Amino acid sequence: MVSLTFYGGVNEIGGNKVLLEDGDVRVFLDFGQSFTLGCEFFTSWLCPRTVNGLGDYFEFGLLPRLKGLYAKEQLKHTDVPYVKPKFEAVFLSHAHFDHANHIEFLDPEIPVYLGAGTKLFLEAIEKTSSSCDYGEHRYETFRTGDKIKVGDLVVEPVHVDHSIPAAYGFLIHTSEGTVVYTGDLRAHGSRKDMTGDFKDKACESEPVAMICEGTRMVVKEKRKNYSERQVERLSGEVVSSTDKIVFVTRYSRDMDRFRSFYNVAKDNDRKIVVSPKTAHLLSRLVEDKRLDLPDPLKDERILVYYKRKKSGEFEEKDYYVWERDFMEKMAMYEFVRKNQSKLVMDLDFYQFAELIDIKPSPGSHFIHSMSEPFSEEDIEDQVMHNWLDHFKMRFHQLHASGHLNREELTGLINYINPKRIFPVHTENQQLFKKISGNVQTIKYGKEYRL
Ligand SMILES: [Zn+2]
Repeated sequence: MVSLTFYGGVNEIGGNKVLLEDGDVRVFLDFGQSFTLGCEFFTSWLCPRTVNGLGDYFEFGLLPRLKGLYAKEQLKHTDVPYVKPKFEAVFLSHAHFDHANHIEFLDPEIPVYLGAGTKLFLEAIEKTSSSCDYGEHRYETFRTGDKIKVGDLVVEPVHVDHSIPAAYGFLIHTSEGTVVYTGDLRAHGSRKDMTGDFKDKACESEPVAMICEGTRMVVKEKRKNYSERQVERLSGEVVSSTDKIVFVTRYSRDMDRFRSFYNVAKDNDRKIVVSPKTAHLLSRLVEDKRLDLPDPLKDERILVYYKRKKSGEFEEKDYYVWERDFMEKMAMYEFVRKNQSKLVMDLDFYQFAELIDIKPSPGSHFIHSMSEPFSEEDIEDQVMHNWLDHFKMRFHQLHASGHLNREELTGLINYINPKRIFPVHTENQQLFKKISGNVQTIKYGKEYRL
């Protein structure tokens, strides 16, 4: 008997935790954190206490109380007794927070299968973020083409195009036929061919079920989205039309976007300035040659921005050990101020105070290469615009989504033609019913037999 139970990603975008059971074999597909986790009870600095492990999460039913899943240490202050693992494996589709973050609670004895590139991401994130600790795990890396045996299950990861490198979908060959899990995917990025490979393999497997993401399954899309190529072209037009500095804000794990801006800088004979965090991430990702990213230490086009810390004098001891690796590529605010016409600079919203030191000349450009705000009352968006107005900077919204749109999702489902469809990672499960009569809308914690 094969069944699926959803402990996350139900009527929400993100937080996927899908339990697949085939007889005695139980595996999780993704183990992410919901973006809105506990928002009814926690806000800002009022957050779950690390010292209480899973206790604060169980109090409000924020994680499933499953035996044989969590680490002993995490259960110490709860009424769920620790027992030896009852789950054979957790498979991560990619290194986004909403698919991977909750592995921190897992029993370290449960193997975590992940793409080779995803492991590099998790290590880099752990190293450069003071609040992130995924804990100890038995990591097993895979690549497309691998067939991983877990009991009688065979799991086949297949690469997809998404807004982070090393993203995969899975074909899980069970005793009742193949179950397809899309993970997150798109077909307008720089590797749309990979989503094509996934589509073909999924179709060939004649799946009995497909767990399908639906981030952009909406009645009408209000926000403007481009393809990755359009983002590069339109950003190129901004940069080539000015002799002022161009700042860019993007998602820190989106390396396709980094590459787009790197290309724009190169085409316009400018250097690109990145944070030590991005430099560290790049220095890890170059280990995977297939990702084809530049080495921040060797590539002359890349400079690393050091902000003033502690002494304010840019002394080595002011910085974390991992930050010091790139000091030979240092750009400080004075350098940026004097070389504005020769630079494209990554500048995260939370680092906007650096603008006070850099003093961009009026008429400089700012490219917001992230989703547009979800509401008109978005406070951070208002603050961002106040800063841009203060420094008389010009604003550009240029973004490519990480997900298929409604039309493309419809195409994907019709092409793969699964016997049943389980919509996940979506706020609009009902809309899937307009595509197919085989849609099973899902409820949190309910078991669905195939
Ligand atoms: Zn994602």
